[in-house]
Amino acid sequence: MEAGIVGLPNVGKSTLFNALTCSKAAQSANYPFCTIEPNEGIVSVPDSRLERITKFIPPQKVIPAALKLVDIAGIVKGASEGQGLGNKFLSHIREVDAILQVVRCFEDPDVVHVAGDVNPLVDIETIEMELMLADMQTLDNSLPKAERAARTGDKEAKLRVDVIKKCTAHLATDQPLRKLEADENETKIIRSFGLMTAKPVLYVANVDENDLLGEGPLVKQLQDFATKVGAEVVPVCAKLEAELAELDPADRAEMLESVGLKEPALALLARATYRTLGQQSYFTAGEKEVRAWTIPVGATAPQAAGVIHTDFEKGFIRAEIYTLADLEQYKTEKDIRAAGKLRVEGKTYIMQDGDICHFLVNS
Ligand code: GDP
Repeated sequence: MEAGIVGLPNVGKSTLFNALTCSKAAQSANYPFCTIEPNEGIVSVPDSRLERITKFIPPQKVIPAALKLVDIAGIVKGASEGQGLGNKFLSHIREVDAILQVVRCFEDPDVVHVAGDVNPLVDIETIEMELMLADMQTLDNSLPKAERAARTGDKEAKLRVDVIKKCTAHLATDQPLRKLEADENETKIIRSFGLMTAKPVLYVANVDENDLLGEGPLVKQLQDFATKVGAEVVPVCAKLEAELAELDPADRAEMLESVGLKEPALALLARATYRTLGQQSYFTAGEKEVRAWTIPVGATAPQAAGVIHTDFEKGFIRAEIYTLADLEQYKTEKDIRAAGKLRVEGKTYIMQDGDICHFLVNS
């Protein structure tokens, strides 16, 4: 999964990106290069269920799920017309699955706001407008080629032309494409264009150090807006996260507790990103490794097996599944089986969040 961090300048994007990707907690032996490029990093998704499983099944290795974060700088008013870093940011953002928009909700006279004052809704509108204009350009640029191909009788190209026109008409009403109703084929085409306002968005409220839980009026404003458009808001204090990132685990836990927070921002953001993208986790657990895998909500058992290895989807025979609650009650797989709680599931089984699985496959 890949998420792009966007926002106006000076809202705290880089502070947050650096805190998330370079903290000692984010670094893991599995992803040794926490920062691949100055603006790209892979982080381990914190999941307390992994620790709970390893209490009963101590493995040689624990492999959490991974989330790729991309810090996309350069969106300012006029970016789509080449202001600021201009179109450079577009190539990065096209590839991400979700957009994390950092919205400034902190007041600080020392940090200049590009539009003069702190106003979350105006900031959101500015970014959304730039992304809509950029999408409009992408569609305009794609139309002539699709039309030429459609004239040769290419049916798929004809559908592309229709989708381009449908999207253009929708954007002309000042609505982002994530609100456009589209069937499966249309959605596939929209995805292939990398249209940015079609991507799900999550608002990250960069809150004041004095309002860590995000109870102030600016966050409330943002929350009301997000509820209206069906998005989530995650309050985060980038400045505090930057301080936390410098600490080792024991000191970090102590500091979190002293300011009244239960978890670092990465855990909150990762969970919200999963929800926004309609993803969930399942686990495989053995002596060698305990590992988290990411699948869409609604995935079947063969599809889940296919995430481990593409051949496993076709070769799927059956799955043996139990839950973390079973493991905590019966302590070992042997006793789970003896208690009749090890379920045998077939090809049509719909995976549930947190399932612990063994797959039997023909390979
Ligand atoms: P970007 O341009 O969006 O990447 O913003 P930066 O991360 O460079 O932050 C801009 C300035 O705001 C820096 O001086 C940060 O130290 C400051 N800043 C970022 N987050 C916070 C915050 O939560 N509270 C306060 N007071 N300042 C912050």
